[in-house]
Amino acid sequence: MHMRIGGRDVAGADDRWMPVMNPATGEEIDRVPEGTLYEVDDAVRAAEDAFPAWASRTARERGSILLRGASLVRERYGEISRLLTLEQGKPLRESADEIRGFANVLEYYAGIAGLFPGEYIPLGPAGDAIVTREPLGVCGAIIPWNMPALLMAWKTSPALLAGNTLVLKPASRTPLTDCVLARTLEEAGLPPGVLNVVTGKGEVVGEGIVRHPRISRVSFTGNVETGLRVQELAAGSFKEVTLELGGSDPMIVWKDADIGNAVAGAVRGRFYNAGQTCTAVKRLFVHENISAEFLQRLRKRVEGLRVGNGLDEGIDMGPLCGPGQRDEINRFMEDFKRKGEGTILAGGEPLRGPAYDRGSFFAPTVVKDVHPESALLRKEVFGPILPVMCFDDLDTAIRHANETRYGLGASIWTRDISVAREVFARVNAGVVWVNRHLTIPPEIPFGGVRASGLGRENGSQALLSYTRTKTLYIGR
Ligand code: NAD
Repeated sequence: MHMRIGGRDVAGADDRWMPVMNPATGEEIDRVPEGTLYEVDDAVRAAEDAFPAWASRTARERGSILLRGASLVRERYGEISRLLTLEQGKPLRESADEIRGFANVLEYYAGIAGLFPGEYIPLGPAGDAIVTREPLGVCGAIIPWNMPALLMAWKTSPALLAGNTLVLKPASRTPLTDCVLARTLEEAGLPPGVLNVVTGKGEVVGEGIVRHPRISRVSFTGNVETGLRVQELAAGSFKEVTLELGGSDPMIVWKDADIGNAVAGAVRGRFYNAGQTCTAVKRLFVHENISAEFLQRLRKRVEGLRVGNGLDEGIDMGPLCGPGQRDEINRFMEDFKRKGEGTILAGGEPLRGPAYDRGSFFAPTVVKDVHPESALLRKEVFGPILPVMCFDDLDTAIRHANETRYGLGASIWTRDISVAREVFARVNAGVVWVNRHLTIPPEIPFGGVRASGLGRENGSQALLSYTRTKTLYIGR
């Protein structure tokens, strides 16, 4: 598949290609050009050329193109979901959710097009002021491999609705879905050059976008170390940045929780997308009064998960996104076992056998009574390992929940509103769910505190972040 620059298919400067692999079978499914700084610059030029005409349309006109894009994506969700599963590994059902999620985000922003704010400020005898909002110009979007479609929607929809044009870099492992979605938006009426996709490596294309002097803003989603580098590089050209980084979300189950509901929430919260979600449940704290029953039901559910090729019928969990990811998860478990840091309740190793040997499969894993210094609690584990700890009072649970450098999401499972409020007030996080985890509709602002990042995506806040104010002061 080719990159898409200025509405053209581009093969790349010197015929260098990167393979795209199916993580369930280890087979090459396609290749994309390995972009260079030349293509980044070409894409910026195309985006600059397209900017004046795009910015001069009304938000409602831009929104109607997003709506048409959403409807085309919905018509084709079957084939696009299949492509996403092929390159990323997640079960078809989850891919379909994600592709519909892409359309939801476009529709949400199209729906708020009319709410584009401006302000009139009367200044008495001194005059009047009018505050308008302008698009920023060319913006950059850098996407990770775990949610290539949804995160593309989070970055493109508000930026485009606000009148900006974009240079987007998909993750090296999952470029195909993003390329197809970009073409679909063009088919829906997005003018050439408004959304450009440059495939390639992070250190080249990603850094090229972040350093580019004529890109005004970059929205990056990825891991903390890359995010720090992005922030440092962006400072060199006065770029605004949104950094959506890692997480180590706590889920706290209070003694009055509906146990069945909480177990289902923990299983989905941790094993959705094979645990490769920024806001997955990465640490589970259960009140000791209910822990015996909770753990027994949790273990049964986890052992019943069907793991396999995401294209097959009835699969609950696919492979990890590649052998490197599987090996990283295995290193966490090997370390845990070697140091005797707790008890394994389920799973604990890569899956073996004819259905698994060519892919990157790891068993859904639950461990309990984990040592507080274990890497399973201290680092972000981006895979299907769920550490469970028991507690007896809320203060202890909240203290442990905050023992991390991250602060993305958190959840409290209870019927008691005062317990929910207490957790909301004291846990470090950008979003706190009550009796849920992981659900992020486009309406709610999403982002973290501390090492989980800067800025917010989704909601009207994200739209505003792609604009700057300009004030007209009319003296009397
Ligand atoms: P990553 O940082 O390795 O890569 C993310 C993107 O950045 C890729 O497109 C990559 O090619 C590019 N990149 C790599 N090096 C770069 C550089 N030097 N300059 C610019 N771009 C560069 O992250 P990943 O492994 O793809 O994604 C997993 C991480 O993303 C996890 O930590 C996860 O928690 C986080 N994540 C966060 C959110 C959120 O909203 N907070 C959502 C999804 C994933």
